[in-house]
Amino acid sequence: MQLLAIGAHLHDIELGCGGTISRAVPHGATAEMLIMSRSGYASFDGQVPGTDDEALAEGREAARRLGVTDLEVLDFHTTDVPHGSETVDAIDRILSEFRPDLIVTHWSFDTHHAHEGGSRSTISAARWCRSILMYEPMPPSGRSWVGFRPRAYVEIGGQIEVKIDSLRAHASQRRKWGEVWIDAVRARAVYRGFETGHSHAEAFEALRHGLEV
Ligand SMILES: [Zn+2]
Repeated sequence: MQLLAIGAHLHDIELGCGGTISRAVPHGATAEMLIMSRSGYASFDGQVPGTDDEALAEGREAARRLGVTDLEVLDFHTTDVPHGSETVDAIDRILSEFRPDLIVTHWSFDTHHAHEGGSRSTISAARWCRSILMYEPMPPSGRSWVGFRPRAYVEIGGQIEVKIDSLRAHASQRRKWGEVWIDAVRARAVYRGFETGHSHAEAFEALRHGLEV
């Protein structure tokens, strides 16, 4: 299986589907992580929670911890990943090279505009991909005007510590959010696991899923 995970920022994929990726790779999947933006961030008041260089170094280490060597980072501005032809064309180029069987991307109702633009551009570009899953948003950007509806689950009991370890590689995010960021991710995995009779799981909305019969 060729699995393409797409995130607006370095760390988004780990939050949404890091367990799924670290489970798929040892089972023979070829995984690529596509990041749409440089991912450094400066807030309106001039504070810099993390630079582009920091985000890239952290993202490379996090991908390595998930078992992924194929990490591509595009050059969009961190907060400006629009749903438009430039973004769609950039994803189209990756799809023509990698030809994924399964794409996992942001949820389209995520309230972070870069996440939303990345998701909708993925869906526009992936018109011929037979399986697209949207991973669960992480607060605060998941508090949307519609609810996330989990339709597909991946059990990650054996991968939860790898997922957490990959998040710990993102030191700038941990500085920004504190240790509760890690605790919340773990608690959500427990909750999604409880829904499905497992210790831990990741949940997805399925845009479409081609079945092998
Ligand atoms: Zn993000």
